[in-house]
Amino acid sequence: MKLTLSLICSFLVCSLFSQRDTIVLSEFGDKFLWGTACSAFQVEGSTKEGGRGPSVWDTFTATKGRIKDGSNADTSVDFYHRYAEDIALCRQLNFKVFRFSISWSRIFPKGIGAINTEGMEFYHRVIDECHKNGLEPWVTIYHWDLPQELEDQGGWANRQVIDWFGNYAEVLAREYGSKVKNWIVMNEPVAFVSLGYMIGYHAPGKKSPKKYLCAIHHVNIAMAEGGRRLRKIIPDAEIGTSLSCSIIHPFKDNSKHTTAVKRADLLLNRLFLEPNLGLGYDYQTFPFLTRIKKYMLPGDEAAIKFSFDFIGLQNYFRVVVKRTPFVPIVWFKQVSAKKRGVQMNEMGFEVYPKGIYEILKQFGEYKQIKRIIVTENGVCVKDRLIDGEVNDEERLDFFVKYLGYLKKAKDEGVPVEGYFVWSLTDNFEWSEGYQPRFGLIFVDFSTQQRTIKESGLWFQKQLSFYRKN
Ligand code: BGC
Repeated sequence: MKLTLSLICSFLVCSLFSQRDTIVLSEFGDKFLWGTACSAFQVEGSTKEGGRGPSVWDTFTATKGRIKDGSNADTSVDFYHRYAEDIALCRQLNFKVFRFSISWSRIFPKGIGAINTEGMEFYHRVIDECHKNGLEPWVTIYHWDLPQELEDQGGWANRQVIDWFGNYAEVLAREYGSKVKNWIVMNEPVAFVSLGYMIGYHAPGKKSPKKYLCAIHHVNIAMAEGGRRLRKIIPDAEIGTSLSCSIIHPFKDNSKHTTAVKRADLLLNRLFLEPNLGLGYDYQTFPFLTRIKKYMLPGDEAAIKFSFDFIGLQNYFRVVVKRTPFVPIVWFKQVSAKKRGVQMNEMGFEVYPKGIYEILKQFGEYKQIKRIIVTENGVCVKDRLIDGEVNDEERLDFFVKYLGYLKKAKDEGVPVEGYFVWSLTDNFEWSEGYQPRFGLIFVDFSTQQRTIKESGLWFQKQLSFYRKN
């Protein structure tokens, strides 16, 4: 009996390790880009320091009941003071790209008008530190933290935002263009527009179909406008934008859910991509969208287009939907991972490695997309720091499987040329607070002590070939 048990155990251990060994990062080639990603509001802290103005997320976190654990990002992981340490850690793990975002209200405390030079200097220091460590800085211009002053004037639902954003992008391009060649105009518009203006779960916490529709259109044009301003000022820049993308499946493979799948695919994957590619809005799949026409002006059809050098694809989970008469306007709902009894992360999202392959194939179908970089992928699991170590097997398993499927898509011809882990360190996970930990590096939030997790050490070992070049 004992022997059988130990045989089973050693079989399980062996299969775990052999599974892990099935992916070898050097096989992605020398040119494939490996990096980590983070965003200003989630890591910087020091929200009232250095002349920074308030953003919608400061207001939102200060409102009782908005953040699950009642926390805020006033300190977060103190990147504002510890950026040199974190950038050095990114280098130590052998990555080549450090993706971060700029806080609009650190540059323009009121969104427009006077520039805050202290804020400008801070990002010069961050960029210089990247170069010092041999890391490419990839800058995201907008990762959800709109200056509060602009939200007070309607935010993304006010058409003037196109100029405000264009001006902000242009100022960044002039200031950092000689040092930064890779730019991401926006991060996941679908998330900040739908969660922020329709569902109210994210800042600014609005629940308005009208604001939602206006914001869709304004964000689409602003994204293209941001691209144009960058291109004009930095002709040799590589300019992209990052979209959250999830493969959509029907509940129980049932054809009665086909319309639900199409509609969800449009709203989650295509809404902030196809207008830029020149394919317009798909009114047929979702007739409610025709109301956007009310907010269109002559010339918008051209203004909404921009030929991005790359699309940032961000994938975490799969979405399963069913048709329902109980959710007006969209007439579908998501069937949660919990209900379906499938593997989930700490936030209740399904862990579905094959999804990254399927969505890459779907995006690979667009002739207009020149190349794809996976600008975010990662998982939150229950991490425990025990005797100075964090053994995050589950996260490692996630990376091995997702990367295996990414490789398959690449081998089949999808032009995917890079992969950035979300995230370098644990950080502030928006409305979920600090409980979900996504980092390759564990942060003790009370002491700010950083500890590299097993998964981080795995990347370090796997990427050592890459750093030798
Ligand atoms: C966002 C990040 C977020 C991550 C994990 C992405 O959608 O860009 O800001 O922390 O998902 O939820």
